[in-house]
Amino acid sequence: MAKFHSLEVASVHHETPEAIVVGFRIPDALRSEFQFIHGQYVTLKLTVNGEELRRSYSICSSPLDIHEIRIAVKRVQDGRASTELVEKLKQGMTLEVMTPMGNFTTALDPTKERHFVAFAAGSGITPILSILKTVLRSEPKSRFTLFYGNTDRDRIIFRKKLDELKTQYTDRLAVHHILSQGKDEDALFNGRITTEKAKQLLGRFVADALHKEFFICGPEQMMVNVSEALESMGVDKKQLHIELFTSPVTSGAKKPPVAVGEGAFKGTAKVKVILDGRETEITVNANGDAVLDVALDAGLDVPFACKGAVCCTCKARVVEGQVEMAMNYALTDEEVADGYVLTCQTHPRSANVTIDYDQH
Ligand SMILES: Cc1cc2nc3c(=O)[nH]c(=O)nc-3n(C[C@H](O)[C@H](O)[C@H](O)COP(=O)(O)OP(=O)(O)OC[C@H]3O[C@@H](n4cnc5c(N)ncnc54)[C@H](O)[C@@H]3O)c2cc1C
Repeated sequence: MAKFHSLEVASVHHETPEAIVVGFRIPDALRSEFQFIHGQYVTLKLTVNGEELRRSYSICSSPLDIHEIRIAVKRVQDGRASTELVEKLKQGMTLEVMTPMGNFTTALDPTKERHFVAFAAGSGITPILSILKTVLRSEPKSRFTLFYGNTDRDRIIFRKKLDELKTQYTDRLAVHHILSQGKDEDALFNGRITTEKAKQLLGRFVADALHKEFFICGPEQMMVNVSEALESMGVDKKQLHIELFTSPVTSGAKKPPVAVGEGAFKGTAKVKVILDGRETEITVNANGDAVLDVALDAGLDVPFACKGAVCCTCKARVVEGQVEMAMNYALTDEEVADGYVLTCQTHPRSANVTIDYDQH
């Protein structure tokens, strides 16, 4: 099961005025627990002004670069955790870091010859950098095209790293910067990535989009715009990988109850929670708080982070009974079909339910 460990901060590098890149030293004893797949994230547990915060940050290093896990944190306006990290984190400090997780990834195969395309904006570059580096090193015949939106040149996170990679992989990596305050002679590279601009970029730089695999990560509106552009071009949803950093609906507080459908179970369910091999029974109202909130109120140390259905830290498997999720932006269709749920969104729909956090 996912667990927090104290990790030493090996390095802090100020990448742009608002963003830092943080390296964690992984002791030998924890190396297997911190093994990760390109595109995954870790969750940090911080105390800021007496308040415990859990925040997820994507890993920007490649799993092929051993001994260190690196993340990039961009300060958001009035952001509690990101401001604390960007302003105060120093080399040598320790942080509580949860073992890696996440589905924003794809299986790689060195024999394949593919063309991956990514749209990133701002800190959305972080998981995409990990994917891009891993693809270029693991699939020697594959190509990668990145469309990367930022306000201006000075705010481009990993600008130098991307330049180096372009030099190293001249024939296989293309990077197109789109700057909202840019003054390029070609207007296509100036302004925000709207649906129309995404279509034009794809039309000019990506032949045959119907047969590509796409990664999208950045502010919600950019992701909506790019998804719309791809859908209008006939790209199948199965070809899209999308990572949300913020929930479109909630800020992490307890959610209002979900409406219970006609004829569905409306009572109080006995929910057996399996955690670290131990079983605990909790009582959960069908139209009350989600299973995660009730389990936390009961004092169980169940894993969680965003509480807004965008990360999968609170994932568990339903092994008995019926449940319903209010939202899901993190689990794949296959995982849902296999009985996995985001417990921050899960409500019982039968009198007896068993949820296993050990089957993460
Ligand atoms: C799977 C996953 C991976 C993530 N990876 C990264 C990453 O690699 N780098 C990174 O910097 N962040 C990443 N995030 C976002 C990160 O977890 C925090 O949400 C972010 O740092 C803001 O936290 P905060 O405590 O500073 O802001 P809060 O105090 O929680 O929020 C302050 C205000 O800012 C708004 N806000 C919160 N997050 C954002 C945002 N991302 N953009 C704009 N406004 C926002 C809130 O709605 C609120 O109004 C990721 C999130 C998830 C779920």
